[in-house]
Amino acid sequence: MALLSPPRKTYDVCIVGSGAGGGMAAYALTKAGASVILLEAGGSFYGSRDGKMLVPNYSSPRRGASTKTRPFGEFDACDGGWEIEGEPYTVASGSRFLWWRARMLGGRTNHWGRISLRFGPDDFKRKSLDGIGDDWPISYNDVAPYFDRVDRLVGIYGSKEGIRNEPDGIFHPPPPPRCYELLVKKASDKLKITCIPARRSVITQPLNGRAACHYCGQCNRGCATRSNFSSPDVLIAPAQATGKLTLLTNAMVREVIVGPDGKATGVSYVNKLTGEEAQVHARVVVLAASALESSRILLNSKTPKFPNGLANSSGTVGKYITDTTGTDVAGYIPAMENHVAHNEDGAGGMHVYMPWWLDNKKLDFPRGYHIEVWGGLSAPGAGFGGGIQRYPSGGGYGKQLKNDYRRYYGATIGFSGRGEMVPNDGTYCEIDPNVVDRFGIPVLRFHWKWADYELNQVRHMHQTFRALIDQMGGQVFSPMPTKEQDYNIATGGQIIHELGGTRMGTDPKTSVVTGNCQAHDVKNLFVADGGPFVSQADKNPTWTILALAWRTSDYIADQMKRNAL
Ligand SMILES: Cc1cc2nc3c(=O)[nH]c(=O)nc-3n(C[C@H](O)[C@H](O)[C@H](O)COP(=O)(O)OP(=O)(O)OC[C@H]3O[C@@H](n4cnc5c(N)ncnc54)[C@H](O)[C@@H]3O)c2cc1C
Ligand code: SF4
Repeated sequence: MALLSPPRKTYDVCIVGSGAGGGMAAYALTKAGASVILLEAGGSFYGSRDGKMLVPNYSSPRRGASTKTRPFGEFDACDGGWEIEGEPYTVASGSRFLWWRARMLGGRTNHWGRISLRFGPDDFKRKSLDGIGDDWPISYNDVAPYFDRVDRLVGIYGSKEGIRNEPDGIFHPPPPPRCYELLVKKASDKLKITCIPARRSVITQPLNGRAACHYCGQCNRGCATRSNFSSPDVLIAPAQATGKLTLLTNAMVREVIVGPDGKATGVSYVNKLTGEEAQVHARVVVLAASALESSRILLNSKTPKFPNGLANSSGTVGKYITDTTGTDVAGYIPAMENHVAHNEDGAGGMHVYMPWWLDNKKLDFPRGYHIEVWGGLSAPGAGFGGGIQRYPSGGGYGKQLKNDYRRYYGATIGFSGRGEMVPNDGTYCEIDPNVVDRFGIPVLRFHWKWADYELNQVRHMHQTFRALIDQMGGQVFSPMPTKEQDYNIATGGQIIHELGGTRMGTDPKTSVVTGNCQAHDVKNLFVADGGPFVSQADKNPTWTILALAWRTSDYIADQMKRNAL
């Protein structure tokens, strides 16, 4: 049970944020015997208890349409959105940026797509390989044992492929490809694009007391049988069962408190239910509020000893931030028209995907992307600009409209590119000196710049997706975007894979934390979200956040035992 105010005591560890990073830190540290207090800005939520799996849309007068706090739909599991009332952020003139934030126990892990890819050996050493960006101070081999542990604890489906920079894991059997995914595989093979079973944190066999997926396809609503990964059901509940975790929800952390010796002594927070300001005390502080929020907390933690914010003697807090690049292309495939009835049940997400398959040395952009596939049995949407009128003879009224809906049902195919952005000096966040949120906490201001590296990569995505649809005998819905349109690259932040801001390194002059995610300037302060990432990789980041958070927690437990913090 979450508390309104915690018992007054000094905990071993205080963790801020309960998403992938915070949930894993709470799990690993309580299992190691530490007394932990976890502060979360949102309210309590366990998908197995509070999710809306199998609730029919027609049960609501809104028919499941989105609400202000549920932008992905009324029954979606994520409380949050691009805008949160009373919690603004600002964007510098000339920049475009969107920031998705979840405000609930488990953060964004309640909704996420569960595409679970390990960063590979090359992803940690890009500068050594091509001179661009920076190397991490650690290697794949340092993180690999923790990837294995995450696979075993959380569970993931996939297949062993032996692709060098797409390391295999300990996989449950993947669900079989659906009909349209078989067509995609056929076209990919013709074009020599690697297409393999997807890797998602959904269990297809029972694991650690959780049931196997029953293919309801509604992962975004939260899973009543705990067959997919969300931090509350898979990490926080077992941490609570140790009796070592004190959970404080609706606690918005303002800053890290520092003692006269320069060490962190805890955090101050606003109790969102009462509006009161309070403090909790701990021997170690772990920030896991999500990459950019953790930067914000550090930049707002100013003392005479740390006038530019805590752990910021390098001036790099808020710098080297990235998001995944992205763009989408959709089309209509005549071969899937008037389909024969067939079963397309499955895990709520794709069953196949395409990892990066080319050599960047032969291309005009330095980093790769992977391809996510979507389509299948859902009716073309109604409405102007995005529905059935895009199909040949589509639209109209009455009988023809009904016939067209039947004919084109399940005939749409779509591809989404998700690629690596290289950090650049024009992309960073800082405190806006003029704006505070409803708690009086100064907010972040974003600067964002895409380089030709990213734009050329996204142009290549378009060419590839159009070639795939062509190979499938289909018609693309939209014209090829131009350079002047930035090739329709998604706005910074829009792919919701923000990383960096507290990057790791061996040199305290150019990095915020060490390879163990320990602040160079404050030895009992750690970051356990995507903040310490040095590079973005062409992978979705959460599996690597989980593995790193576990590794960091083991280091903290070890150092506490040695009285070294
Ligand atoms: C629609 C969507 C699809 C996605 N799909 C994928 C995918 O397929 N694969 C993948 O790898 N990743 C995906 N992601 C990204 C993934 O969700 C994040 O990488 C992951 O959740 C990050 O974990 P985190 O712990 O850093 O942050 P979060 O999960 O965001 O958790 C941070 C928590 O900290 C809390 N918090 C913030 N500030 C404060 C404060 N000041 N005080 C107290 N608490 C605070 C927040 O309320 C939140 O609960 C997706 C995200 C979204 C939204
Ligand atoms: S598809 Fe599987 S994992 Fe996803 S919500 Fe349904 S049962 Fe759970």
